[in-house]
Amino acid sequence: MAKWTIEDAERLYRVKRWGGGYFEIGENGNLHVTPDPTNTDIRIDFKTVVEEIQQEGIQFPVVVRFHDILRSQVAQLNQTFRDAIKEAEYNGQYMGVYPIKVNQMREVVEEVVEAGEAFNYGLEAGSKAELLTVLSYNTNEESLTILNGYKDEEFMRLALLGRKLGRKIIVVVEKYSELIALVRISKELKIDPIIGLRSKMTVKGRGKWASSGGERAKFGLTIAEVINASNYLKEQGMLDCLKLLHFHIGSQITDIRSVKEAVSEGGRIYAELHRMGVGLEYIDVGGGLGIDYDGSQSTNDSSRNYSMQEYVADVVYGIKEVCDLEKVPHPNIVSESGRAITAHHSCVITPIVGEIRSSGSSLDSNKFETTEQENEHVLVKNMRSVSVQIDDPNENTQELFNDASQYKEQAVDAFKLRVVSLPELAKIETLYWDIMKKVQKRLRHVEFIPEELQELDYALSSQYLCNFSVFQSAADTWAIDQLLPIAPLTRMNEEPTVNCSLVDITCDSDGKIDQFIGDYGTTDFIPLHELKEDEDYYVGLFLTGAYQDVMGDMHNLFGRLNEVHIYSYDDDPEDFYIEEFVNGSSVNDVLSIMQYNPSLMAHNVKKLIDKRIASGDIKPREGVKWTDFYENCLDGYTYLKTPSKSNPQK
Ligand SMILES: *Cc1c(COP(=O)(O)O)cnc(C)c1O
Repeated sequence: MAKWTIEDAERLYRVKRWGGGYFEIGENGNLHVTPDPTNTDIRIDFKTVVEEIQQEGIQFPVVVRFHDILRSQVAQLNQTFRDAIKEAEYNGQYMGVYPIKVNQMREVVEEVVEAGEAFNYGLEAGSKAELLTVLSYNTNEESLTILNGYKDEEFMRLALLGRKLGRKIIVVVEKYSELIALVRISKELKIDPIIGLRSKMTVKGRGKWASSGGERAKFGLTIAEVINASNYLKEQGMLDCLKLLHFHIGSQITDIRSVKEAVSEGGRIYAELHRMGVGLEYIDVGGGLGIDYDGSQSTNDSSRNYSMQEYVADVVYGIKEVCDLEKVPHPNIVSESGRAITAHHSCVITPIVGEIRSSGSSLDSNKFETTEQENEHVLVKNMRSVSVQIDDPNENTQELFNDASQYKEQAVDAFKLRVVSLPELAKIETLYWDIMKKVQKRLRHVEFIPEELQELDYALSSQYLCNFSVFQSAADTWAIDQLLPIAPLTRMNEEPTVNCSLVDITCDSDGKIDQFIGDYGTTDFIPLHELKEDEDYYVGLFLTGAYQDVMGDMHNLFGRLNEVHIYSYDDDPEDFYIEEFVNGSSVNDVLSIMQYNPSLMAHNVKKLIDKRIASGDIKPREGVKWTDFYENCLDGYTYLKTPSKSNPQK
């Protein structure tokens, strides 16, 4: 058999295909990161990142954020729009905004704002809390601040405060009654708002979020309402406040055709309104720019059949074409891409802390003596004879599989009828699983595998226990079957021999990942490497920067993760430095959220211990130790404490 190469690993884990130019398998079999595509001299070996995290004494699991990736994505999107605008001889400008709901972490928003400064890149908010955030963080007077979502009076007043502060803050009307309120409050405060109208589209984005578009969409005005709104503003002497037309047909648009259709529908609405005397200056095409999570470049739910360049070109040329045809000016173009900005920059790193083997496990705890003995039950004899035949290459695999399966079923029945003893049953099962492993091995290089035998792979697969919670760190894999790429951080130059699914440490059987990127759609398991006694094995869950980072919940009271913020730095021997470490939730933190009073809890436990000391059951010194221990655990991380195998002193 040919030696395993990193090309084989690439075929299996598809790192380059989902990596967006940032991730790659290195010659040494470790995962490498090139956070800044304009400086490919900087190449960070993930193994050194893990070692540094260990040296700093930071507990796993951790979220690793590459700030340069975030900056690079901001620059790429803006530059791509600028290039397309120039090439198309388009007269408007690109004025993008980052929708903070995709990842509201302060460090992320700050980095996006800073990286976007040169492009006058703005922010988008969809709730009052987000509006309060963007008011304080978007300080660039040239860039836009776009406000979507349902609004109350307070929301409108805050928006008008933004106008007072000299910001280009645009209130996008989602439903007609908001317009009436906005006009009233603006007049009361004597501040001119900038108004946008969100139009319901007949086009739906294909993919999981298709319901954001179409006539049953939750947000937006009907065409009649759009016209009535313009007339109302004219009556109120405020038509010149109406500057923007907005639409959003859903996140993660999988098919470029939906983008083209939406742009031509939106372009038409803009052009007609313009000819009706509404001096719109902006078209906002919303979000939806997709990410190729599974690396298939297809219309799969977790993929997309286009690139950023293609998306941008279709938006720019699509709007230009309509405008030129209708002889109206080219509007400035706004887009609200969130997923595409943040998805790549963060990942979750967890050690594998254990293995839950199948019944066929070769772990010591599962070994059982099967040598022949006198007066054995005939079923034991039969199974043993199959286990001898399976070593003969001339025997038929399917036939042996059938025989073994039949004997095993009979053995279970015989056990219930008290004909086979418990040790005999253990022998039969041990022999049976040995046979199954050999059957599986025989089938590895066979073209056609009967269905029954295909299931063997699953039956013989292991479960690797990951020190994290799916509900906190990968909510969408549980909620909507989102695929997130998974790969080991090391050893990719070795053939992975254990078929695994991943389970988390919550007490919930849904706390698992058992859908992986496969050659044809998805598979139930991912091949990973055999665990070693003296070496840590880490896997990464990638592209978690959009939504996953901020949507998780505290199922089982597992809280937020420790975070490591990484900047690349050419002069450093390892090409990076950890700029900041942000503590994840302590047990104290999560208990307080649930209304507990941790210091009172510690006090109560101390009283119980004191009572035992008084009665002489616990020695005073020992009692103090127990009290301290309880308090330390309250201050500690919510995840498993797993000492490093590679560096045992840590
Ligand atoms: C969620 C949302 C976005 C972001 O969409 P992405 O697909 O993440 O780019 C943009 N605009 C609106 C109105 C949204 O609701």
